[in-house]
Amino acid sequence: MIKASIITIGDELLIGQTIDTNSAWMAQELNKAGIWVQRRVAVGDVWDDIWQTLDAEAAQSHIVLITGGLGPTADDITKPLLCKYFNGNMIVHPETLERVKHIFEVLLKRPLLERNLKQAEVPDTCQVITNHKGTAPGMWFEKAGVVFVSMPGVPFEMKEMMSREVMPLLQGHFKPAPIFHRTLLTAGAGESFIAERLVDFEAQLPAHIKLAYLPHFGLVRLRLTATGAAATEAEVQSKFGQLQQLVNDIMVVNEDISLHQAVANLLLAANATLAIAESCTGGYISHQITSLAGSSNFFIGSVVSYANDVKNNLLDVQQATLAQHGAVSEATVREMAAGVREKMNTQYAVATSGIMGPGGGSEDKPVGTVWIAIASATRTTAQRFHFRFDRQRNIELTTMQALNMLRLFVLEDSAHA
Ligand code: AMP
Ligand code: MG
Repeated sequence: MIKASIITIGDELLIGQTIDTNSAWMAQELNKAGIWVQRRVAVGDVWDDIWQTLDAEAAQSHIVLITGGLGPTADDITKPLLCKYFNGNMIVHPETLERVKHIFEVLLKRPLLERNLKQAEVPDTCQVITNHKGTAPGMWFEKAGVVFVSMPGVPFEMKEMMSREVMPLLQGHFKPAPIFHRTLLTAGAGESFIAERLVDFEAQLPAHIKLAYLPHFGLVRLRLTATGAAATEAEVQSKFGQLQQLVNDIMVVNEDISLHQAVANLLLAANATLAIAESCTGGYISHQITSLAGSSNFFIGSVVSYANDVKNNLLDVQQATLAQHGAVSEATVREMAAGVREKMNTQYAVATSGIMGPGGGSEDKPVGTVWIAIASATRTTAQRFHFRFDRQRNIELTTMQALNMLRLFVLEDSAHA
């Protein structure tokens, strides 16, 4: 098993000002490639701490990945330290110099400072790795059979460098045993409920195939992973077929995509359009939809109808409905969905209204009470939920449930078409 350590460098990580998202993302990439991450360490911009951490991790791992501390400011010491650690001398790397100049002169149209030119310097003991998204280059070192790769801390620069340059280089260098993943997405059932159902399935899996449960906001992803010499794609595929049968009723999609992507695919396949009326989710569902490339092919628009006046004026929710049942009610979401669908002339509409907390609850409508409606020209469904979390999680869960209700609604239509 090829083993890796991840070292993230920066004082801001230690004080919690920046959340270390880099190592989680890198660990996922390594894992997918069949490389085992055995340790993740965060250290400050402190010479001795970084040095000792390099020693300690190199003694344990075949691969040591490092991010952070490559900026042009005085607090960033990773590059001079690596230069010393690998007994090198700083030299100008001509291609990086050209790229840094290009970025400043052509793209940013800002004068190039001496400290920016420093970004083009690298230790002569490294192989330079291109940074396609920024100025600080990556560096690949080898020492006593261990590979060290230093990358920038800026997440989008690091990700591009990992995907385009570092992962292919690592795979070529270490040739990790192939690893096969198959992932499906479920909605509406808890982790332990699913685990109960899969007891027998898990028990008969061979040792080289593992089942992982990856829960997130009411959704659970199930991932089968086969590793090692005995692993074959055909066997994983066959086990994945069995797994799909066992969770058929709660499965959203048999691939590793988001719920909103799955819903988008469904709407596109049905050649249908969508409008949304959002009260308690404040535009979050629309945000999820519009974060998908190509959403303009089915998403027409939304109304964030937070105040009752907006529900009434823009969506034609009756004053009497609001007065009699309240904004958080079945009658209101039904009228919201019907109203926005008619205004925007779409096949489908979604509406949400709820009390997200922490204030605003009452005895018969406690915090976390949410109504969701889905409408087409011929029918409307509505459902009540009661979420028991904080505001942000309640919004996330409402979004998930709304998208899942829409998915089931469209599927039912497709089945009868
Ligand atoms: P640096 O390379 O240390 O100059 O970091 C550049 C930027 O990337 C800073 O805004 C950091 O907060 C951010 N950053 C550094 N390390 C990480 C990390 N492990 N996870 C997420 N962001 C990071
Ligand atoms: Mg830093």
